[in-house]
Amino acid sequence: MSPNASARFDVVVIGAGIAGIYALYRLRELGLRVRAFEEADGVGGTWYWNGYPGCRFDIQSREYSYSFSRELLEEWDWSELYTAQPENERYCNFVVDKLDLRRDIQLGTRVTSLTWDGGRSHWTVGLADGTSTTAQFVVGAIGDFSREYVPSYPGFDDYQGVWAHTSRWPREGIELEGKRVGVIGTGSTGVQVIQEVAKIASQLVVFQRTATYCLPLRNRPIGPAEMRQIKDGYAELFKFCLEHNTLSIPTDPRSAYDLTKEERLAYYERIWQGDPPLDILGLWDEAWDPGPINDELSEFLKGKIREQVDDAIIAEKLVPNDHGFGAKRPVAEEGYYAAFNRNNVELVDLKADPIERFTATGIKTRDHESELDVVVFATGFDIVTGPLSAIEIRGEGGRTLREHFADGFRSHLHIMFAGFPNFYLPSPAVTGNFVRAIEPLIDWIGEMICYVQRAGATQIVPTNEAEESWTQFGLKQVTENPFFTKSKYVGANIPGKPFVPTNMVFEPEGKFRARRAEIAAGGYREFAMG
Ligand code: NAP
Repeated sequence: MSPNASARFDVVVIGAGIAGIYALYRLRELGLRVRAFEEADGVGGTWYWNGYPGCRFDIQSREYSYSFSRELLEEWDWSELYTAQPENERYCNFVVDKLDLRRDIQLGTRVTSLTWDGGRSHWTVGLADGTSTTAQFVVGAIGDFSREYVPSYPGFDDYQGVWAHTSRWPREGIELEGKRVGVIGTGSTGVQVIQEVAKIASQLVVFQRTATYCLPLRNRPIGPAEMRQIKDGYAELFKFCLEHNTLSIPTDPRSAYDLTKEERLAYYERIWQGDPPLDILGLWDEAWDPGPINDELSEFLKGKIREQVDDAIIAEKLVPNDHGFGAKRPVAEEGYYAAFNRNNVELVDLKADPIERFTATGIKTRDHESELDVVVFATGFDIVTGPLSAIEIRGEGGRTLREHFADGFRSHLHIMFAGFPNFYLPSPAVTGNFVRAIEPLIDWIGEMICYVQRAGATQIVPTNEAEESWTQFGLKQVTENPFFTKSKYVGANIPGKPFVPTNMVFEPEGKFRARRAEIAAGGYREFAMG
């Protein structure tokens, strides 16, 4: 190895969430001098910040375990199939303590700037307290979904009640019992909040813009014997996930047309009654493309919504009427539809009755005025460029990453940027299981760093051609797929935001992994080293 003597660290990792924790571990194991900076006062990232009531996994906890350490897998017991945020945060702390990572993590420290020094081949890492350090490489494990999106409303500043975005939930909590609560947003997060808050609020007003297809989560505790079985099956589970786009869902190789309509309906019913709900993702290909099979499945799910909601008018508002199943991320619920059978829960359909303004005491829609003690924003995230622009990143020639994106988001592999040497954004496919995708991606980054050092070089950066080609590839995928054009996975949820394709736009995780392996085996020809 030829470490860069001018830099205080070989690598600075920004963030101590799921990716940052693994990056710190892996890079330290490779013999590199690593320091992680984390803005929060604790580790866990998503599982630290999203302390809203009801926050939990919707893929099975066992699949979310880090796979790299037999000892970790043996020592940790999951209490439920889909564990809640406090347990998930405890898991992150367990991993950090077990691997003795805490000594290399500086908590409560926000990275505010990164400035590339081409002469010395290192980054100067500016911190919020005014101090700085230097590192040859930076891994920005900042989370694609870490910058909250709060829509702006007239009169918002007049509102005297309490408000919070779900992903910046105060650590001390918010008193919701017996309160009048409004929730804006009915995606994966909104559904989780609504079904919990309905049980304790005196009144809950749900502001829904787009109805969602939800499947039952069917959560339950895991006993010691089942946990033993899980531990014995980890190796096989992880292997399967890697071969199946990061999830443990078997895919049905048949065509939908190999079955009669009755057989298909019986099959949907079996999935509906079964466990886990996301097995639906394994359905035949025709279920996912607009057409008769997708219509049939969507109708089946709409019927299930109608069965669960007592009031037929409310049920119709909860039935998606502008998209088929799969056009948005499937959501898992545990009492979401039942919540609308309670007297204290009210549904406002924002397409028919839009929000006009906030008032001092609540929210005024065209036809209603709701007095609210608390407003919860479950309105999603400003993906990728949101968290990236929270740091002033200056690469070669003092050019900022913001300037780099002036004509739209550009990257090579969504991981590196031309003109920004030695800077990595570890951002794998996002629809599957993040942990299964992040481990091999960080392994790949670690190998690249070691390759550079072994070669006696000090920096590596994607060529302009490679970046251009990947960027065009992503744009083509987006324009060819009508789902992506409107999806939050390309930033379309933020008014006026240019396309920011996340990796899932490009190719399935397995193919992406193979592509990365090929690049490494070919001596990183798409990158310039110096
Ligand atoms: P999201 O999927 O982007 O949903 C945001 C919700 O807010 C949507 O219902 C959206 O309505 C609504 N909304 C946005 N702007 C609005 C506005 N101006 N007025 C009214 N409504 C507005 O965000 P999310 O639910 O936080 O989920 C984000 C991601 O986090 C998920 O895709 C998932 O990857 C992850 N997540 C995972 C879990 C889990 O593992 N269990 C749980 C929660 C979240 P429209 O649909 O009309 O845009």
